[in-house]
Amino acid sequence: MTRRTDDDRTRHRERLAEVRTGTVAAKVPYPIRIREMEVRGAQRIGAGLIRVTLGGEGHSGFESHSPDEHVKLIFPDEDGTLRLPVANGVMLDWPRPFPVSREYTVRRYDAGAGEIDLDIALHPGGLGSDWAQAVRPGERIHVAGPPGGLIVPHAYDRYLLAGDITALPAIARRLEELPRTVSGWAFVEVRDAAEEIPLAAPEDVEVRWLHRGDVPAGRSDLLERAVRAVPIPDGERLYVWIAGEATTVKPLRRWVKDDLGLGPDDSDVTGYWKRGVADFDEEHAGHEHAGHEHGHEHGHEHAHGDGHG
Ligand SMILES: Cc1cc2nc3c(=O)[nH]c(=O)nc-3n(C[C@H](O)[C@H](O)[C@H](O)COP(=O)(O)OP(=O)(O)OC[C@H]3O[C@@H](n4cnc5c(N)ncnc54)[C@H](O)[C@@H]3O)c2cc1C
Repeated sequence: MTRRTDDDRTRHRERLAEVRTGTVAAKVPYPIRIREMEVRGAQRIGAGLIRVTLGGEGHSGFESHSPDEHVKLIFPDEDGTLRLPVANGVMLDWPRPFPVSREYTVRRYDAGAGEIDLDIALHPGGLGSDWAQAVRPGERIHVAGPPGGLIVPHAYDRYLLAGDITALPAIARRLEELPRTVSGWAFVEVRDAAEEIPLAAPEDVEVRWLHRGDVPAGRSDLLERAVRAVPIPDGERLYVWIAGEATTVKPLRRWVKDDLGLGPDDSDVTGYWKRGVADFDEEHAGHEHAGHEHGHEHGHEHAHGDGHG
């Protein structure tokens, strides 16, 4: 894993421009901030997601550059104590033990309105999921990050995007941001048609919703079967982005590496959650990561240098 330095974070705008105009994807670390935001509203987006809109003064200086960048929401401990990281240059110093937190994709940032949308998947027994269902306008929440973003240049011939409902916010945003002329595929596994949402995909990107029905989330092989069946034309440059339940995406990570022969320059495969594990953190789960490192501001007990300070 590459150690990120403060220096990288201070010249992030330059790096963003370099990667965007280059030919291969790269993770670009940004300066990491902590901010207090106000909940502006919460609404259902399809049957499976709640869109929480954050706003208020706290948005000032927020930066958003990549469809799969994430922020970390920080929650109080069980006894109600809120322990927050403190700014240290372009990094954050996190208290130990690490505060209760959950990660969500920046689905939309509207600098003019000063609003950030997070689309939060509903599932039983989840702190973040329960928070999204109960939250009311006016409540406040601390938001850390984003620590960086994966920048994928628009120089590829085709894009293959796949994931479950936790990856849907990133897929939806990437589809919106891709040039209208690109080709590819987007596969999204949901429970049923009620969980589908409108997607602004380029015309030549085939969007396929995969319905797992009564099979519990994280137990279906629909994504794997659909992705493996894609007819990839020889001689074209392909970018692959896959995220979802960790055990489900694991065979796909191997397929991308061994069968497609794509390395971290041209692919990113990430476990976003894991069955039976609260606040799953792939970076510290001890697997071999074929794609990019996350660049989290995540720290837990680990003193790694990719962003938490
Ligand atoms: C970079 C990144 C970006 C992410 N972006 C998003 C996003 O935009 N929207 C989003 O909803 N999630 C996203 N996730 C996934 C989200 O962080 C996890 O699903 C997280 O565990 C949810 O927290 P929770 O408090 O609801 O559940 P937890 O308290 O963490 O988990 C409680 C139990 O629920 C299970 N569980 C967790 N998530 C799900 C799920 N989706 N369906 C069924 N069971 C589940 C766990 O296995 C555990 O058994 C992202 C993760 C990463 C790493």
